[in-house]
Amino acid sequence: MDYLSLLNPSQAAAVMQIDGPCMIIAGAGSGKTRVLTYRIANLLEQGVDPFNILALTFTNKAAKEMRARIEKVVGGAAAKNLWMGTFHSIFARILRSEADKIGFPRSFTIYDTQDSKTLISQILKELELDDKLYKPGMVLGRISAAKNKLISVQQYLNDPVIRQDDEAALRPKIGVIYQQYANRCFKAGAMDFDDLLYQTNVLFKDHPDVLNKYQNLFRFVMVDEYQDTNYSQYLIARKLAAKERNICVVGDDAQSIYAFRGADIQNILNFEKDYPELQVFKLEQNYRSTKTIVKAANSVIKNNQAQLRKDVFSDNEEGPLIEVLKAASDNEEGKLVANSIFEDKMSHHLSYDDFAILYRTNAQSRAMEESLRKLNIRYKIVGGLSFYQRKEIKDLVAYLRLTVNPNDEQALRRVINYPKRGIGDTTIAKLINAAEESNHTIWEVVANADQFLPTRTANPIVDFAEKIKAYTAVAAKEDAFEAAKFIAKNSGMIEELYADKSIEGLSRYENIQELLNGVKAYTEDPEREDKTLGAFLQDIALVTDADTKDAQQEGEAVTMMTIHSAKGLEFRNVYIVGMEENLFPSQMMITSRADLEEERRLFYVAITRAEKKLTLSYATSRYQWGNLRSCEKSRFLDEIDPQFVDFKFAATPSAGPGESPFGHVFERRSNLLPTPARKTVAKGYTPPADFQPSDTSNLQTGQRVEHPKFGFGHVTKLETVSGSTKAIIEFEEVGEKTLLLSFAKLRVL
Ligand code: ATP
Ligand code: MG
Repeated sequence: MDYLSLLNPSQAAAVMQIDGPCMIIAGAGSGKTRVLTYRIANLLEQGVDPFNILALTFTNKAAKEMRARIEKVVGGAAAKNLWMGTFHSIFARILRSEADKIGFPRSFTIYDTQDSKTLISQILKELELDDKLYKPGMVLGRISAAKNKLISVQQYLNDPVIRQDDEAALRPKIGVIYQQYANRCFKAGAMDFDDLLYQTNVLFKDHPDVLNKYQNLFRFVMVDEYQDTNYSQYLIARKLAAKERNICVVGDDAQSIYAFRGADIQNILNFEKDYPELQVFKLEQNYRSTKTIVKAANSVIKNNQAQLRKDVFSDNEEGPLIEVLKAASDNEEGKLVANSIFEDKMSHHLSYDDFAILYRTNAQSRAMEESLRKLNIRYKIVGGLSFYQRKEIKDLVAYLRLTVNPNDEQALRRVINYPKRGIGDTTIAKLINAAEESNHTIWEVVANADQFLPTRTANPIVDFAEKIKAYTAVAAKEDAFEAAKFIAKNSGMIEELYADKSIEGLSRYENIQELLNGVKAYTEDPEREDKTLGAFLQDIALVTDADTKDAQQEGEAVTMMTIHSAKGLEFRNVYIVGMEENLFPSQMMITSRADLEEERRLFYVAITRAEKKLTLSYATSRYQWGNLRSCEKSRFLDEIDPQFVDFKFAATPSAGPGESPFGHVFERRSNLLPTPARKTVAKGYTPPADFQPSDTSNLQTGQRVEHPKFGFGHVTKLETVSGSTKAIIEFEEVGEKTLLLSFAKLRVL
């Protein structure tokens, strides 16, 4: 295939360069990812063995798309054997064959963020530390930042600057928590997401022979979205390329949006120092967007001081002006956006796939969803609560994890008494104590419970351990599907869920079936070599936010996602919603210039996703925690050169806070008025097909909720009487209801 004709001269030059280090720093939509793709195709055509090429992408989805494209150019077989994927998935795979060298089992578990937070909460309890001061998410953030800078526990504990920092923040114990956390993960044979990179660095540092092996394997290393790599990733790439020095990185400093996760713009500057013989390519022509969109994006990013100067231009059509929609409330904003999508689709004969709604935070999707549903517009949400975060799925996955790695402490705690088998919290606490005191893992204590506990208490625990041992034996013989099916049945989970005949129970049961379908598809995929349960678990542990899109049902639909997940993607028509101060830029990001500049880069990323038409919207009032707040439009709106903007004002009459999202106006109840006759079911409300109740243990007054019968409402009061909590909820359509939280099927919004 003559792909050179599909490239401009600078792109072609970057594709043809083969030997030595190379960096492509270029603007959004200028074909960076396209160049990487054809570079790989070119290497393959030159006879390079696909096993010798390592290409690191930002999402699994990006890797999949790149592989498909390469397959078209050079044919199937070669493309399949490329090492292509995210940093996390590639190095998880490498660790799976090398982990024993650093003391981890090859069948190590990957802890997700929730596992990590739960473990930190447990450690806080054991250390008798206040979890209000040491918020688990914040502590995990500190530990994560340390790991991404390759700061070991010992270094953390001994570094006077870090100690001063933590002491000044009145949190002197973070080092100790980090130490405990690392120990517990190690004992449980578990790694969290940051460990996948951290431990790879440990492996390469302590085992030069292993590093040498991979240096010889990966003769060509390529990294997309290089501006968002952190130090840990930078070092892995540098070490792997140290011998052959065939490394090519691609990025755009104007799109660096992950500093909060440790991404470091210095990595671009370091790159020039590391490889003085570096060839640099600049691409300035944007092929994605209209002239209007490109010029508007340039006018915004100009406001950043810390920026390499680039002149991005487009030869595409001028295109329509950027529309700005102003709404009186968040509900009305949803309506305006939904109407606009509907009209554009009809008048330009588009598909809903052509549209994306981007927002700063996941929570904003709700008002949009209501409006889209009202107009019967199909949508899919990327990120948010994914399939694998649902309770029943996590439960079954915990069984599967235990089967592969019985030391997995978080999985063990999750299912040791689920379905109920009479193992109480006190007994579990005793087991943990016994493990700590005897320096065994919890599993070792569980498997020998009769030695630690009186027979009557020990019996159900021993039975549980026998079950898990039996599962491990099955998993050693059978493929992932057979093993998972056996475990789902034998554990009693299927029976338990089947017995629950409520709508929610049914959907949980179906979710388990869906998971088993997924395992089956995995084992039947001819491209999978390793069909074991362990391999399947690794695969699902690494599903990223941006990947969940593919898991949704078929059919054309508007895509909704955060701007962070939209990186690298493109859509014909893009809506950026919630253009308000304190929302975008986020309240947390306006106190320093560096933060504000990161926020502005995020806006730049959002604008440059659009091909033909861009629409921005904001509301002058918005519900937050049940209260109506007035909002000011975002400063970013004023930064766009006004010649590219068409300010539209609310087309529909202003919708007050009392207006139902379902079109008809109703009276908001006031305490001074007599209670109106209650409706028992919200007539204008249809629950979404995928309605999932969520965990209400942290429910707070003011929070917005959804109920499959009563519709939307907000919590006005919470009362706990003899252990059970009642919530008084003001539903928008049916008025006030008092619900017992342990029974109510509520979705917290
Ligand atoms: P981002 O910064 O958003 O990641 P990028 O620089 O990686 O963007 P690509 O996604 O590779 O850009 O390309 C943007 C769009 O322009 C794609 O649709 C791509 O197919 C198209 N494109 C790139 N180069 C050319 C070209 N030479 N001729 C025609 N179309 C091109
Ligand atoms: Mg790209």
